[in-house]
Amino acid sequence: MNCLFCRIIDRKVPSKIVYEDEHVLAFEDINPQAPVHTLVIPKKHIATPLDITDEDNELIGRMYQVANKIARDRNVAERGFRVVMNCNREAGQSVFHIHLHVLGGRPLYWPPG
Ligand code: 5GP
Ligand code: ZN
Repeated sequence: MNCLFCRIIDRKVPSKIVYEDEHVLAFEDINPQAPVHTLVIPKKHIATPLDITDEDNELIGRMYQVANKIARDRNVAERGFRVVMNCNREAGQSVFHIHLHVLGGRPLYWPPG
């Protein structure tokens, strides 16, 4: 499949992996927007958040638990961090394999740009 993140899962594209289990992978964003900027992805290819179905409910929960683990490990859990998933063009989704951005380590402003 011609999907960048599937290729990262398969180690065909190198990345700095920080967590892996049977269902979920996490790796550092190549263009970090904050001191902590890690991506959490399912190993199952799901193109956009709109493609999440009931059968993915447990998987999505697992992704948030991995995001929490990263935040704790990087010491941003208590001070605060952000977990976001962009969907489609106007939100800036550029890779069509769903991913949580875990961002922290600096003040994050709201509303986002
Ligand atoms: P999106 O814009 O789809 O919400 O987020 C895609 C993210 O993937 C961006 O933050 C971008 O920097 C990151 N990214 C794009 N290509 C690569 C890559 O080859 N390796 C890694 N580690 N991150 C990437
Ligand atoms: Zn994929």
